[in-house]
Amino acid sequence: MNTNQTVTVSEKLLFERSTKNRVGVSFPPLDVPEKKPHGSLLRKNLDLPELSEPDVVRHYTRLSHWNFSIDQNFYPLGSCTMKYNPKINEWGARHEAFSLLHPNAPEDSVQGALELMWELQEMLKELSGMDGVTLLPLAGAQGEFTGLKLIRAFHENNKQTRNKILIPDTAHGTNPATCTLAGFEVLKIPTTGEGLLSIEHIQKSLSHDVAALMVTNPNTLGYWEENLKEIADLLHKNGSLVYCDGANFNAFVGLAKMRDCGVDVMHINLHKTFSTPHGGGGPGSGPVAFIKKLEPFQPTPIIKKESEKFSLDWNKSQSIGALSTFYGNFGMLIRAYIYMKTLGIEGLKHMSHMAVLNANYIRARLKKYYDLPFPRKFCLHETIFSDKKQTPYGVTTLDIAKRLLDFGYHPPTIYFPLVVKGALMIEPTESESKQTLDDFCDTMIHIAGEAQKNPQLLKKAPYNTRVRRVDEVRAARNPILTYKLSSTAEE
Ligand SMILES: *Cc1c(COP(=O)(O)O)cnc(C)c1O
Repeated sequence: MNTNQTVTVSEKLLFERSTKNRVGVSFPPLDVPEKKPHGSLLRKNLDLPELSEPDVVRHYTRLSHWNFSIDQNFYPLGSCTMKYNPKINEWGARHEAFSLLHPNAPEDSVQGALELMWELQEMLKELSGMDGVTLLPLAGAQGEFTGLKLIRAFHENNKQTRNKILIPDTAHGTNPATCTLAGFEVLKIPTTGEGLLSIEHIQKSLSHDVAALMVTNPNTLGYWEENLKEIADLLHKNGSLVYCDGANFNAFVGLAKMRDCGVDVMHINLHKTFSTPHGGGGPGSGPVAFIKKLEPFQPTPIIKKESEKFSLDWNKSQSIGALSTFYGNFGMLIRAYIYMKTLGIEGLKHMSHMAVLNANYIRARLKKYYDLPFPRKFCLHETIFSDKKQTPYGVTTLDIAKRLLDFGYHPPTIYFPLVVKGALMIEPTESESKQTLDDFCDTMIHIAGEAQKNPQLLKKAPYNTRVRRVDEVRAARNPILTYKLSSTAEE
């Protein structure tokens, strides 16, 4: 909930404590039994608000509409891959056969769940070209952390102290963050005018303390790192490894294998590429795929298959250890598994083709109206514009993003990557129809027209949203981090 939200009258009523609900039925107060269970900390009766079911349902449904979700409208948030979450995934994840399992249940009684995880691992192995996969990491960022720990363990096992990780200047913020968390030093690599990594820059940065290169492919400008194989060869010659941030796997599933590009370890965001919900919609999942050399260090437990029987192996003396309790976000693994099985390999290839086609369609329709930095002939899964054509009228990327809200769209990612001044990063994904893309492009073209004719209009947008433009400078300087409901909600 927004901290500055004003509380409406009906909301106040809802939160006011009463023993009567609003349809007039009164419930007895929840009594704490005289004899409290041993060790109970509860000392007095619970004074809970009592409401009818329709009131509660309406309250939360109303709150849910204040949010924006992919089920409501187009959500072209670049780099985040906000694609459709198929409802059949939800059916599977909620199926009693899975949802009622206990994580401590004996292995013999959960063979189906283990088999599902094992099969998912095998599919991800195949698609990445790697020798092993762990499904344990709970997000892309935790996948990065896992991969970096594997790299550290590998070098330490070889009695080498390598403390530096090379990261391109277009990288997602989690890359330098996880490197630092894993105890590495970050060395920033500049992007060329073409929007790619250059062999020369890498060559210049290599030394005996470089543990790895951490590269995003396609990179956050939406371009394929064409020199990756040659660059990887350089790193390997130097005794270093190559990590791929696979958050943009959406662009090439079934079409290329990162192993063939010289990558040793990568993470895959199931909540991006493989359609499981994220953001407010669900927890993430960031499996890590790796080559044989890194296998001894993988986190535990490991899912094994021996003569048609599945089991969990916790005994790995060189393992980096456990990442979380139990087996990762199992519900997300089920959803990704269903998505992959529904599409099949041909469907997955088609998905990537469509993701790329849709991004290029938007690029082609908007390039007359918005500046294209680092222009190349085509982009992959996402396209980046800047506000260069609008700044002469005093209109910035923020104004464009805010104006989009008035038309019901979630804005694209803005001001990222940092190498593009005033970036607007658009990722439509494969799951949007041509009609949706056209409507969005028409709106963007309309806004470009407004920027010329009536820039003042954009400066004050949005007009149609529950919360108007917030004073971001004031919010940053004077953050109010507590939410006060009303004076009746005591303590
Ligand atoms: C989303 C993303 C990440 C981080 O993944 P999370 O699952 O959000 O932790 C890392 N790198 C890139 C390029 C991303 O788009």
